This record gives sequence, C-alpha cells and structure tokens, in this order.
Amino acid sequence: MRTPGPGGRRGPRRGRGARDPGGRARGAGARGRDRAPAGPVRAGGAARRRAGPGRRGAGRGRGRGEPPAPRRRSLAPTRSLGRAAQRPPPLRAALAGAGPPPPSARAAARGRRRGARGQSVCRSGGGPGSSGSGGGSGGGGGSSGGRCPGGLRRSMWRPRWDPGILKAEALALLPCGLGMAFSQSHVMAARRHQHGRLIIEVDEYSSNPTQAFTFYNINQGRFQPPHVQMVDPVPHDAPKPPGYTRFVCVSDTHSRTDPIQMPYGDVLIHAGDFTELGLPSEVKKFNEWLGSLPYEYKIVIAGNHELTFDQEFMADLIKQDFYYFPSVSKLKPENYENVQSLLTNCIYLQDSEVTVRGFRIYGSPWQPWFYGWGFNLPRGQALLEKWNLIPEGVDILITHGPPLGFLDWVPKKMQRVGCVELLNTVQRRVQPRLHVFGHIHEGYGVMADGTTTYVNASVCTVNYQPVNPPIVIDLPTPRNS
Ligand code: 5GP
Ligand code: MN
Ligand code: MN
Repeated sequence: MRTPGPGGRRGPRRGRGARDPGGRARGAGARGRDRAPAGPVRAGGAARRRAGPGRRGAGRGRGRGEPPAPRRRSLAPTRSLGRAAQRPPPLRAALAGAGPPPPSARAAARGRRRGARGQSVCRSGGGPGSSGSGGGSGGGGGSSGGRCPGGLRRSMWRPRWDPGILKAEALALLPCGLGMAFSQSHVMAARRHQHGRLIIEVDEYSSNPTQAFTFYNINQGRFQPPHVQMVDPVPHDAPKPPGYTRFVCVSDTHSRTDPIQMPYGDVLIHAGDFTELGLPSEVKKFNEWLGSLPYEYKIVIAGNHELTFDQEFMADLIKQDFYYFPSVSKLKPENYENVQSLLTNCIYLQDSEVTVRGFRIYGSPWQPWFYGWGFNLPRGQALLEKWNLIPEGVDILITHGPPLGFLDWVPKKMQRVGCVELLNTVQRRVQPRLHVFGHIHEGYGVMADGTTTYVNASVCTVNYQPVNPPIVIDLPTPRNS
C-alpha cells in the first residue's frame, strides 16, 4: 500500500486558473511543465482528499497532455529533518575537521579500510579528523601512499562502501569534536547487517536531496573525481570489442520516436516515459516502433508518464472521476487493464528481473513523488521498500529516475532531485555494473563511480525535443552465457 506523498498522493496539474466550477480542472498542456511548488490545494471532493502538489501546466488545452496545472504545495519533506540537517555545518568547519582521532581509532580504521572486494584504499594515517591538505590530484588510491586523488580530504575518500569501514570510521569520528557535523548516525548513514544481508535504512537527508548531495560531497567526497567522473559515451560507429555485449540505452522518448537514429547494438534498454499518458494508442505505436528495431533483446520499463501501467494510480484516478487526467477518462477499463499486453515486442520489467546474454537485468518504474503522476512514491521508506526488492547480484539496473548525485540536476530549480535511497542501494548494496535511467531530461549523459556506470538516457530535452542520441555501452559478456 502506498503511503501518500506530502499533502496526499496525487496532485492535479491544472492550467493557470483554468478550473471548472465542479472542481474538474482543465487546460494544461502535457508540456507545460513548469512544476514549481505552489500554494495549498483547494480541490473539492475526492480530489481534495488526495490532492498533493500538482504540476503546473502552461495551459495548452486539454487534449494535448492533459492534466491541468496543479495547485501546488511546497514539496514538504516526508520526514522531518533533524536539527543537524536543518542547519548544516559551515563548509569551512566541515572541511577543516578537528584534531586527529586517537591512534587506536586510526589504526582500526586503517586496518578495516582494506576494503571490500579487495580494493585498495586511500588512507594511510589520517583519521577523519586528520588535516589532509586536500591538494592531492593524483595518487590512484594506493593503500600505502596516503594521497587521495582529486584534492579530497584523504580521510573522507573511499572507493567502496563497507560496513567495516563505516564502523571504524564512526568510531574514529566520535571524539573529533566537530560539533556533531559528523555524528555516528550520519556516518553510518543507515546501513545494518541482518542475516548476512546489508540493510539500507532511510537516509537522514532523504527528503532533501540537494542538501544530501552537499553534505555527502563535503564530508565524504562521495561525488568527487577521480572515482566519480563524467564519461564520454561510446561513438555509435565504434567497433564492438570481441566478447562484449552492446547495450543501446534510451529513455523518455515520449511518443516521439520518429526522428531517433538508432545505432547498432545487441540489447535495447528503454528506461521509461515512452508515452505522454500511457494511452493504448501510444503504447501500440511504441510497440510497433520496437518491432521495427533489429536488437536481439529489447527491455522496457515504465515511467511516470505511463499512467495506465500503474494500476493503483488508475484505481485512484477512477475514484476521483479522472480529475487530474480527464483525457484518460475516455479509456474503457479493458483498454488499460491490459495495456501491458500491448507490449509484444519487448521484455517489460516492473519490479522484476530477466537474464539475457548472461546479464541479470532488473527494472523498476518508481520515482520520488512529483505532482502525482504514475509510479510516484514519497521519498524515504516507501521508495526504499521498492529498492529493497532489487536482488544482490544484479548486473544491470534500470530505474526511471536517477539516484542522488548522478545526472539528477535540475538547473531551472537549482536542485538535485535524485533518490537518496536509490543511491545508497546502488552504491552500498547492489553495486551493478550499469545503472540506466532517465526522467530528469536535463541530466542526459554518462557518469561512473568506479563500480557502476550511470546512464541518463533521456532522448527528449526538457522541452520534449527528441534530440539526444541513444547512449551505447559495451560490457564484457559473462563467460557462462
Ligand atoms: P517528466 O514529466 O518527463 O517525468 O519529467 C520532465 C521534467 O520534469 C524533468 O526533466 C525535470 O525538469 C522535471 N522533474 C521531474 N521530476 C522532478 C522532480 O522530482 N523535481 C524537480 N524539481 N523537477 C522534476
Ligand atoms: Mn520524461
Ligand atoms: Mn519521467
């Protein structure tokens, strides 16, 4: 059962001031997508009960993308931030640290930092409180050199997430007197072991991803080079290395596939938002396009625009008399109950997994609540529960939305909007080789953190122009396949 988002689960999109007296809104275009938070919802009836902040449409009129611009509320956090979160430590204090921790703690940290998966680590003597100059620019992570690449405080740089490391670090941090800039709970960042399985818990900064990004970047160097980098995509005409599988990644095609030049590859991955509203006509057209493509496997997940794929969403929508998305009311139930069956030319994943060419591939459509579209869930526990369904050992993860810090920047709002729980799940527990997503159209591109390559494959720009080329990724094909 989904928990409602701030102010309710579904938010209407409503045209500027366009609203029928009966509470039925009208007038927003699907592409009037300025979605700033707004004032409180004043919808009537069922809509009022459910309405959260909605998207503001630019008033393009109903048939085109529909739901009216929303009345908006601020995207209130789903859980209140602790005091430390509300008042982050000043940058200088956080960077400067305090005096070094006791030698015993440093030794413990050093010993345990010979990290997971045999990775060498970059810490030779400094505890978290050590005064690394931050000037190192090379170093490559040798465990004995003590230099951290990328100008990071070496005490904060680490290439892997490991509970042993974290425990040692927390111990080392406790006496450092940073005014609790680093508290044990921060550093532990909610990970536990249970029956040998790493448990990710809701992050302290879950509801404020921009703040989470800043905090973890300053205090842990978590998004810093060289272990985190932008990556140049493989040119479409580059030859595929022998023994590799070529993945062609797209996302957010939004029923605009005609102009897309599709490159050679073995497996197509589509990370959701292939339609505007999930109408059966759109799904059929998308399926035909898939049928015309020569890839050996085509793997597709839904996004928030595939409204009809989200059954719980549709049930709510009916109860609200299609208040938010009047165009969908034209559908007969049998049209959308079976909409998934229209996808005959691909493997559709929804919190499920498939193995192709020896790669374990898992797909999930959920993303943080944003004006009440399909597969929206509040940040925190609700989304974490979905990510907890991802099994260990997955090679390729497909989600619609990005994790925090990777291709998740919304310039217009100056915000990071990636999911903190997804980041923790990906980096600390699942550690796939490839994570493909979209949703934040502005974030199109490729990054890597030394373990996982992150692909934001949004074909459409923020103005819904399908101009970004598909992204090609070559991975070594598992030997047993
Ligand atoms: P879509 O409607 O296709 O899912 O998303 C399109 C655009 O909406 C994105 O490129 C981004 O500008 C914006 N958007 C989507 N989700 C969020 C969010 O959670 N926060 C913010 N600020 N913008 C978002
Ligand atoms: Mn999209
Ligand atoms: Mn989306």
